Amino acid sequence: MTFSGIGYDLHRLREGCKLMIGGIEVPFEKGSVGHSDGDVLSHALCDALLGTACLGDIGTHFPDTDPRWKGVSSLLFLDHARQLLEDRRLHIVHADAVVICERPKLGPHFPAMRAALAKSLGVAAEQISLKAKTNEGLGEIGRGEAIACHAIATVRSH
Ligand code: MG
Repeated sequence: MTFSGIGYDLHRLREGCKLMIGGIEVPFEKGSVGHSDGDVLSHALCDALLGTACLGDIGTHFPDTDPRWKGVSSLLFLDHARQLLEDRRLHIVHADAVVICERPKLGPHFPAMRAALAKSLGVAAEQISLKAKTNEGLGEIGRGEAIACHAIATVRSH
């Protein structure tokens, strides 16, 4: 049997914060505001993975009111999601994500992000697909005030 899950996340962008995406720091004049490291891609992917097994969302497992998660690497959340799936004998087959921001250009950073995500999830980089879009200058994302991400994950039981 295969199961799919979707995830979505959005973070505000602000000067003076680090821009963490897919487990790596992307050099940019702004960064994402968040309780953890604000990694929009890891958060959307985490929700997609949790969704494959009806395990709620990232807020259920890592509430932003809990000081334990303040400033931590979001790869930790992915590692935890992977563990929950493994406990249920579910294996990650594939994940695909679209990160939406006006700037910076993310394509050059995808190889490093895929490697970091794959390592946390215990899969090969070839099982993680990443894409980037702008918002065509429209809305909060288009004005560079926010970054968003949609993700889908597929797991297999046996
Ligand atoms: Mg988030």
